Amino acid sequence: MNASEWKEKLSRVGESFSSAISGAAAGNIAEVELQFLGRKGELALLLRDLGSFTIEEKKELGRLGNELKARLVAALEAREAELGAGRAKAAAGLDLTLSGRPFPKGSLHPITQAMDRITVSLMKLGFSVAEGPHVEEDHYNFEALNFPADHPARDMQDTFYAGVKDASGKDMLLRTHTSPVQIRSMKGAQLPLRIISPGRVFRSEAVDASHSFVFHQMEGLYVDKAVSMADLRWTLDAFIKDLFGSAAKVRFAPSYFPFVEPGAQVEVSCVFCGGKADKCPVCKSTGWLEMLGAGMVHPNVLKACGHDPEKWSGFAFGAGVERFAMLLFGIKDMRMFYENDLRVWKQL
Ligand SMILES: [Zn+2]
Repeated sequence: MNASEWKEKLSRVGESFSSAISGAAAGNIAEVELQFLGRKGELALLLRDLGSFTIEEKKELGRLGNELKARLVAALEAREAELGAGRAKAAAGLDLTLSGRPFPKGSLHPITQAMDRITVSLMKLGFSVAEGPHVEEDHYNFEALNFPADHPARDMQDTFYAGVKDASGKDMLLRTHTSPVQIRSMKGAQLPLRIISPGRVFRSEAVDASHSFVFHQMEGLYVDKAVSMADLRWTLDAFIKDLFGSAAKVRFAPSYFPFVEPGAQVEVSCVFCGGKADKCPVCKSTGWLEMLGAGMVHPNVLKACGHDPEKWSGFAFGAGVERFAMLLFGIKDMRMFYENDLRVWKQL
């Protein structure tokens, strides 16, 4: 090896050190030091080769070797300081007293909230929750509720059929109201009975601001000895006052449902104008809102469930949960409940 070859090797050692040290992490600084500056390191081995050169050459090459050594030592120290400073900086940026990042939890759907409020109100009056299937037999959805086959009242409830037959050969259907839960609860049950049945129902209806093919109902049923219309009136009054405040009023108007006799349409004083009816678009300036259907359980329904109508009597009432939710949350279009636009829900 001649002098210029040695110089070339020396400069290569310098280059490979530079790339090793710039990529070195705190944990391998010592490793880099050993590789280049150790007793058997690359620089030491090169300096050992100087023995075969002339004195003049040794002087020049030795100086170059020592200069590189000094440069390597300085670079090692600088890198070490840099990494140390980085660690200190990272530690300074970590504030353990800061609170965590907020995690959005979400909330219950307004329909669920309305259903919960209705349920809690009625549970305070002694009702307990009963449930039934969404795919129902004709018997429970219509027949036992005093809607015989071909009864015109069936036309009031456009029905989705499931395309399968039940055990008696009749078409299974998606329940059009929560009333079949009343039949299921009453049939062969120990009386007295006091239940509510909140849940989803289905009708083949065109969707608009106040109709949907899937919506929610809540029904109440109380069967006991000597239950009268006065009990129904008192119960609904207490329920509505609990939900909308003590100023809310209830009034009954005659109506028809096949499963009750007599039947009533129940109106509640408008919660928006307080019943003043002055240019109120919600109640159309009548001061009243149709909220529930109700009545005394029809003797035929009691009979269909195996109970003697001479001995037992009861009342039933039902309402659309969406209607209550629209009033509780001030929502004007029913379609909003199913679009699930978070920009709307975040305002509630
Ligand atoms: Zn009004």
